[in-house]
Amino acid sequence: MNCRGLIVELSSYLDGELDAQGIREMEIHLARCKNCRIIVDTTRKTIEIYCQTEPVPLPADFAARLHEALARRLGRKPSH
Ligand SMILES: [Zn+2]
Repeated sequence: MNCRGLIVELSSYLDGELDAQGIREMEIHLARCKNCRIIVDTTRKTIEIYCQTEPVPLPADFAARLHEALARRLGRKPSH
């Protein structure tokens, strides 16, 4: 799994919907990729903050926009 693959699977991972193989691939990648650890930590914290405030429905395209924004951000950095 590379950084883009991780971002594609990220929402499933955080929702607990990823299968065992996907989780394993993601954890292997996270173990060696600091950028993606930061992305996962930040996204998880953001979701926790949302959950502690009053329920606000996320826009239907939230996941797509998140993925797009993260992909853009990763795209600017040199690959590793
Ligand atoms: Zn990565």
